[in-house]
Amino acid sequence: MLTIDNYNFTGKRAIVRVDFNVPLNSSFEVTDDTRIRGAMPTVRKILESGGSAILMSHLGRPDGKPQEKYSLKHVVPAIEKVLGSPVKFAGDCMGEDAGKMAVSLKSGEVMLLENLRFYEEEEGKPYHLPKDASEEEKKTAKSKVKESQKQFTAKLAGYADCYVNDAFGTAHRAHASTALVAAHFPGNSMFGYLIENELNAMEKVLLKAEKPFTAIMGGAKVSDKILVIENLLDKVDNLIIGGGMTYTFIKARGGKIGKSLCEEDKLETANDLIKKAQAKGVQLILPVDQVLADNFDNEAATKVTPVDEGEEGWMGLDIGEKTIKLYAETIRNSKTILWNGPMGVFEMKNFQKGTIAIAEAIAESTSKGAFSLVGGGDSVAAVNKFGLADKVSYVSTGGGAMLEFIEGKELPGIKAIRG
Ligand code: AMP
Repeated sequence: MLTIDNYNFTGKRAIVRVDFNVPLNSSFEVTDDTRIRGAMPTVRKILESGGSAILMSHLGRPDGKPQEKYSLKHVVPAIEKVLGSPVKFAGDCMGEDAGKMAVSLKSGEVMLLENLRFYEEEEGKPYHLPKDASEEEKKTAKSKVKESQKQFTAKLAGYADCYVNDAFGTAHRAHASTALVAAHFPGNSMFGYLIENELNAMEKVLLKAEKPFTAIMGGAKVSDKILVIENLLDKVDNLIIGGGMTYTFIKARGGKIGKSLCEEDKLETANDLIKKAQAKGVQLILPVDQVLADNFDNEAATKVTPVDEGEEGWMGLDIGEKTIKLYAETIRNSKTILWNGPMGVFEMKNFQKGTIAIAEAIAESTSKGAFSLVGGGDSVAAVNKFGLADKVSYVSTGGGAMLEFIEGKELPGIKAIRG
């Protein structure tokens, strides 16, 4: 398989889909450059091998219209700082200047295209429709965008000699830059290091897991994670549940949950998952105790109760000490660990103990040789917040993409290159 390591970039222009969807402050400065740093090994490899790089990305959701606040020009200084060399900027990814800049790009040079999502063709969605458009009008507009998407894609492809996709965070989107450009480069499209590393880490967990394999699922809603849990039931030995999604399971099995988070329409699903786990010999482990609060507030009054004994007017915002012990022990005995979603409202100091303890147990287990993969927005935020990111084996950069991969779905951005 073609990889960034065995491809000859000498004298070639590579168009690289990166994920520079970075947070900006009110002065349009990048406040977290993790994603920029993440793309640099790939960019450097291309440049050091004698190629040049045309970087393309989206930023925010401009919905098909150019908007100052979503301009990637704001990101240029941060890229230059990390890269240590100048970056040219093409102020319109479809403009004449972009084409000229691309063809005159010299080996070792880097340019960045303006936000791809300033064009509705990137996502292939008809954004410019009146609110009261009829179904027929919507359909016609959609097929028009799909048609013009072909020219959009061909134009992007025309800038370069080869294509590298290094944006794992958007690999689950069937957009022009992620899923369609590759077809213009038969024998010349490949993944960057970031996607390669993501795939290796996920395949290690999903296809080659050393046992015991424990998955820890937390976060707010069970509805977001049903398919993930179902797919994991075929692979894991232990499935630990925490966070707000706990209470749908607790209510489903007849416990009292007070005003804890609950998805009433998912009670049956929760029961089904419990039954499926039993049938497959998977230990589905729910909290045994909880920290209750009388308000969704860091300063709320709190008390600890058994998890089935929620109280009127109180909500569970963290797992309790007994649960921490139980979960930490299971994690310590595991050889493969997958973690998605916090154990409580970790953004509030008084409800972060459970999440910290789980992160620490994962770090400890990793130091003893387990392979641990942490992914999904908030668990990544948690390991970063608690300074444990370098103590786990791999931190995934793509929340939604990772979840879809674990659900067993084929990601369009991956398929476009792997075939
Ligand atoms: P998710 O995006 O589904 O992973 O959910 C993450 C969010 O779930 C975080 O903002 C947490 O504060 C929140 N969360 C975790 N546990 C609870 C809980 N027991 N009650 C309410 N929200 C929670």
